[in-house]
Amino acid sequence: MDEEARLITPEVQTEETGFDVSLRPKTLDEFIGQPKIKENLGIFLQAAKQRGEPCEHVLLYGPPGLGKTTLAHVIAHEMDANIKITSGPALERVGDLAAILTNLEEGDVLFIDEIHRLNHSIEEVLYPAMEDYALDIVIGKGPTARTLRLDLKRFTLIGATTRMSLLSSPLRDRFGSVYHLDFYGHDEMTSIVRRTADILDVPIEEEPARLVASRSRRTPRIGNRLLKRVRDYAQVKGDGTLDGQTVVKALDALEIDPRGLDETDRRVLRHLVEKFQGGPIGLTTLAAALNEEVATLEDVIEPYLLQEGFLNRTPRGRMATDLAYIHLGMAPPKRDTPSGLGI
Ligand code: ADP
Repeated sequence: MDEEARLITPEVQTEETGFDVSLRPKTLDEFIGQPKIKENLGIFLQAAKQRGEPCEHVLLYGPPGLGKTTLAHVIAHEMDANIKITSGPALERVGDLAAILTNLEEGDVLFIDEIHRLNHSIEEVLYPAMEDYALDIVIGKGPTARTLRLDLKRFTLIGATTRMSLLSSPLRDRFGSVYHLDFYGHDEMTSIVRRTADILDVPIEEEPARLVASRSRRTPRIGNRLLKRVRDYAQVKGDGTLDGQTVVKALDALEIDPRGLDETDRRVLRHLVEKFQGGPIGLTTLAAALNEEVATLEDVIEPYLLQEGFLNRTPRGRMATDLAYIHLGMAPPKRDTPSGLGI
């Protein structure tokens, strides 16, 4: 299906680019949630600052919309550094990366989003750049070719990925620290929704904010997006106030159920239950039956269903849990083994 049309996809939608920027927390203190990361990163940054050095390279990984780009900006801000932003797919030729690297100033942060999608020859240029702040350029061709080594300014590379498993181990090993962003807790999501509401100048009380948070798939980007849609609804159908009743009506109109699942999620679960008797079924077969890309299913749809206990990943494939049957209003099957053990 067309991902752009899906309200609760955690990926950025085109209209949001400016909106995202204005909502981004700028400092570690403003950044809500992820307490372990905040603590470790705080120490890491302070230590680098005390030594007067750029901080070591940082790898951020986790599902989309959880704050990887935001954290990269926070790191740059805390280090008083400039940030340059690019992404794995945007770097098509070695020259693209070489141009960026040679233009970096001392202490700059280079953020590469979707770093798992870098092609191999570009990745090889990154190794000496990360390790020795050096760029090796090959001049000429054939037997007369020689390598010229250019010094680079000391910079910090921040890589972000949704697919840690696709990152080559030489690249992974060159990061000084690796942080895993996890889905947010309910209270954290509520605080994020309230903070965004303040910035958008549409104050919201605790309870209605909780309702928005509960349908946001524990993902800040989705929380912000839902809040914006709820605000539009309140403005057009009510007097603009975000009270509990208006929020419930707005969310129901958006067809997002109280567990944060939308029609696509329910379709995945229904397919699994009705066509494949609840599984286990391989990811590729399931994706084909749903007419979805395997990557979309694996990166975008599945993580939340797994996290919330609707789906289990077993060695023999994906399985619907009892909770999935109950959520669809069906009786869970009688099984010899507990659901999802895949034995
Ligand atoms: P990612 O790079 O992981 O896809 P982003 O950093 O672009 O995610 O975050 C998506 C949106 O969510 C941004 O608008 C950002 O303002 C908001 N956001 C993310 N994490 C937080 C947080 N911890 N506190 C407040 N807002 C957040």
